[in-house]
Amino acid sequence: MSLSRLAQAIAESPTLKLNEEAQILREKGEAVIHLGIGEPKNKAPISAILSSAAKLNTGDVKYVPTDGLPSLKKAIIRYTEENYDRVVGPENVIVSAGAKQALYNLLFALLNPQDEVIVLAPYWVSYPEMIKMVYGVPVIVTPEDGGFYPRLADIEKAVSSYTRAIIVNSPNNPSGVIFPAKFIAEIVAFCEKKNIYLIMDDIYHRLVFDGKTAPPAYQFTHQDVESTRVVVINGISKLYGMTGFRIGWAVASRRLVEVMTNVQAQTTSCTSPILQAAAEGALNGLQSAIESLRLSIENNRNVMLRELRSFAGVRTTPPDGTFYCLPDFRAYNPNSVELSSFLLKKALVVTVPGREFGMEGHLRLSYAGSVKDVTEGVARIKWALDPNSPNEIYVGDRKLVRDWL
Ligand code: PMP
Repeated sequence: MSLSRLAQAIAESPTLKLNEEAQILREKGEAVIHLGIGEPKNKAPISAILSSAAKLNTGDVKYVPTDGLPSLKKAIIRYTEENYDRVVGPENVIVSAGAKQALYNLLFALLNPQDEVIVLAPYWVSYPEMIKMVYGVPVIVTPEDGGFYPRLADIEKAVSSYTRAIIVNSPNNPSGVIFPAKFIAEIVAFCEKKNIYLIMDDIYHRLVFDGKTAPPAYQFTHQDVESTRVVVINGISKLYGMTGFRIGWAVASRRLVEVMTNVQAQTTSCTSPILQAAAEGALNGLQSAIESLRLSIENNRNVMLRELRSFAGVRTTPPDGTFYCLPDFRAYNPNSVELSSFLLKKALVVTVPGREFGMEGHLRLSYAGSVKDVTEGVARIKWALDPNSPNEIYVGDRKLVRDWL
């Protein structure tokens, strides 16, 4: 069978693949702990459920405007004003099937073949693949000191006449860190000077800890939405833990939204009005859902850090937000793919290899699950790797004996 070279070059989503592997093990009766997941266990806010149920009950579920229901756009405009202090119009907003589709449409709208997009390591796995899917070239910039904070000097070196955009994701998946205001201010000024689009993937911007906030790029531009190079991507997946509702959006100039709308019109027509109604319900309903989700994840983060601190040899940069941390496991194995597969086999714990995020030697551990998952998951990893930990461990009522250290 002959398939497109480009399509065949697109990597499988490592996280979705791990989900499948964990599911197969679970079906075999194995007590797998999943520290790979990127979604919390909460239920959707009641206002979201009622609003989508009401839409469904009308039985009137048809095509709707490609760029989103006007009432949902109104809620997004209000959200943008409240959270970013920016007044935008409906022509500056497009609703898509998740932030993922919004990003894809945006890249499709911005890039000519061979145009380059700067991606800051550690990065979300989908950025390089999406860039390749629209015939662009991802240019990865890795901090020289092996840390998680990008430096403008490194970015400047990577910019060429083909650079069309830079993607910034803060709080960051996979490291959990928030980039400092100074860096955001510098990158905004740099992009505006060089006419490079600054794509702010703000999907985790409210999921922040210790009273910190993620400095928004809008804060550092004096230009209005029509002339700024800043484009903001957001959605309800992480904000309300509504991952399965598949609603995200982009805020950009009128012209960019127009082109993205044409791209979306020719591919998906529109996002389902039932799911848009759910998003509208969430955005217009009681906002305490965001705070209770944030608090429970912050508590999980604290437990994760406490457990990791007692793990000799593992170095962890404390996450300021998101569901993830990216500890350095090089003291145990510099090959993260090997280490992750070893931990799944021996300790029945799912982790995601840092190599997938451009940070070899690290593992991404998620604390989106329960506190029990976090404590037991880390205890099992410790048992599998650390010779100072007890030689035996119980997984359910099964005793596992370590015979490899
Ligand atoms: N950006 C980042 C950094 C993410 O981690 C995710 C989800 N894992 C997305 C975008 C996509 O979110 P959505 O569910 O809205 O498509």
